[in-house]
Order: sequence, then structure tokens, then C-alpha cells
Amino acid sequence: MALETALAGLYGPEDFGNPVHGRPAAPARSRVTAEERARALPMPSLEWTPEVERATAHLYEKVKAVIPPVEWPFMAPYIKAINELKRERNAVILAHNYQTPEIFNCVADIGGDSLKLAIEATKVKADTIIQCGVHFMAETSKILNPAKTVLIPDSRAGCSLASSITGEDVRLLRERFPGVPVVAYVNTSADVKAEVDICCTSSNAVQVVESLGADTVIMLPDQYLAKYVASKTRVKIIAWKGACEVHERFTGDELRSYRTADPGVQIIAHPECPPDVIAEADFTGSTAHMINWVRDNKPKRVVLVTECSMADNVQAELPQIEFVKPCNLCPHMKRITLPKIWGSLVYMREEVTIDPMIADKARRSVERMINLKN
Ligand code: SF4
Repeated sequence: MALETALAGLYGPEDFGNPVHGRPAAPARSRVTAEERARALPMPSLEWTPEVERATAHLYEKVKAVIPPVEWPFMAPYIKAINELKRERNAVILAHNYQTPEIFNCVADIGGDSLKLAIEATKVKADTIIQCGVHFMAETSKILNPAKTVLIPDSRAGCSLASSITGEDVRLLRERFPGVPVVAYVNTSADVKAEVDICCTSSNAVQVVESLGADTVIMLPDQYLAKYVASKTRVKIIAWKGACEVHERFTGDELRSYRTADPGVQIIAHPECPPDVIAEADFTGSTAHMINWVRDNKPKRVVLVTECSMADNVQAELPQIEFVKPCNLCPHMKRITLPKIWGSLVYMREEVTIDPMIADKARRSVERMINLKN
């Protein structure tokens, strides 16, 4: 089935006369408030010393394929301090695959894609969750762990998909298509999750759509993931005009140029990419499926058509594989840095809160997806 023609409908904010969208960008938070200062822990030293070098040597082993030795003395003091502060705060760090290698490999307790982080967030015993990812991920952790404190090191870490749609848009879609079930990609705000029937990730989107037993399903907000799902199922898909600003930048021409330079190169793509990119790929799958494909197939050279840091993280694990890196970085993911994680733990900032009524409704959509998997 042609990906370009597979959708039953495509809607956007302009179709409802509602141009104002998403969570407004949070103001920059550089100053520490009096309340944060009152609960601050004593700050560990951030000097590069022989003791820091010894204490972090085993961690450098994990990332030496992707972090030059000259950069390590700037990172290691933060890494040592963060790992100590985590114990003092009884905190756990969850990191998405798109986090930089020093975060993903050296301070995170759990790393993975959105689905894995959502599920693991339900099992953690710690009092505090530090979410190294973007705001909707921190909201998902809070939705699933209402009694825990969830912190995000920079609350401005947004997402072009999550900000493309509001809960009000979902209500208007329901009015236009009464009785049609609505599936939301997890890359949405709590407000949107509260209005839909079930969530999905790029790992389980086809399974979720087919589980509803309907001949037509509204799937939002990623038009490209919706097109990909529509090409894999007989269910008619009505989509929303959202897109990931990182994945929509890739083009089929760009991938063909990699293949022309090396006909043996393997190209694997994320389903948030446009159809001409997916048509050019040897394999398409979620971040978890992409990583497993590389582990299982061990190609000589591979292009991971997704956010750039994921290739670094897989390369840290599999240094024998050559990764061609078309480096599209997610500016939102890159707001999370070691100094900001350190600041989160010292001052217990920035706390993610959700109206309990919205959180209860959103939880039903997320748990319906999780229970489907089990
Ligand atoms: S990579 Fe795309 S989908 Fe992921 S957080 Fe960034 S903008 Fe959102």
C-alpha cells in the first residue's frame, strides 16, 4: 500500500479555527528560589581530582568509543556528584535513548524508549524520579506515579509533536467523528491523554489500533506515524497534522546519497520519518526495534535515521560497528545536561505537577496500553 495515499483524513488546528496550541514554553529558570535553597543539599565538589578519575574510570570504559578523553575531566565530577546525590535523595534517573552518552550510560538507572520508560516508571521504588527526556515523558511518569516526586532538569524541554495538539482539539475531533475511537501517541500532553481512549508508542501502534475492533480510528498527533500504521493495517486511519521536527528533516534523497556512496550500507528508519524516507530504508521500527535490529544483525556500516544521540549510545555498546551519523539533534532533548541534572538533585527542581482529575483520566489511557502489552 502506498504510504502517501493510505490515510482516510488529515486534520490540523486550522480545521477547527484554533491556532493556539500546546503547552506554552516555560520561562527560563536560572535563579534558585528561596524555597529551593532551603531544601538544598550541601554541594559536592566539582573538581577533577585523582579520586574522581578513579571513581569514574569504570564509567568512562562504557563511553570511551564516543567521548574523547579530553572531554571526560569536565563530565566526570558531575557524574560522580550526581550518582552520590541520587543515593542521598533516594532518586532514580530515567533517560530516553536520545539523551547524550554521558547521561544515558553514566548516570541513568533505566534507559530506553518511551514505552519502556513508561512501564519501568511504574516499578521504581525510589521517592523521586528524575526524568531525563522531554516534558511529556515526565508527565507520563507523574501520571503513573502520582505519589512520587517527579523532576525534570529543564521544564522547557518540549516536543513539536506534543505541542501540536490540545485537549480541546481532541474534543472537536470527537464532535466531528462521533463514535470513532481515538488513539494518542505517548508524545502528547497529559491534557490530550485525558481525552483519548488509549495511548500507543511507535513500538505498539499497529497492535493498539487493531485492538479497538473498529473499522476507523483517529490517530494523533503524528501524521507520519499514522501513515506508516495505515500502510500496515486494514483499519482506516484519520490523522492529525503534527510532525516530529527532527524526523521530518530527513529526505529520501539524503538516504539515496548514502547508498550511492556505499551500496552495502544498511539504512534503518524510525516511523516518525516521512514516507519517502521509509520507502528507502531496509528496516523501519521504533527506537527499541532499531537497537535490537542492530544488535541482532551486526551490520558493518549502518545509518540510524533518527535522533543523533541514539547512534552514539548504540555505538558505545557496539564499537565494532561503523555508524554513519546524519546528525539531526532534538533541541528539546539537548536541554537536559549534566549540570542541570546535578541542579535538579541539589535543589529538588523542577517539579512536574498535573491536576489530579486530568491525571486520573490520562492514567486510564496509558494503563490500557500497558495492559494490552501484557
Ligand atoms: S525527537 Fe521529535 S518526537 Fe522526540 S522529543 Fe524531539 S521533537 Fe519530540
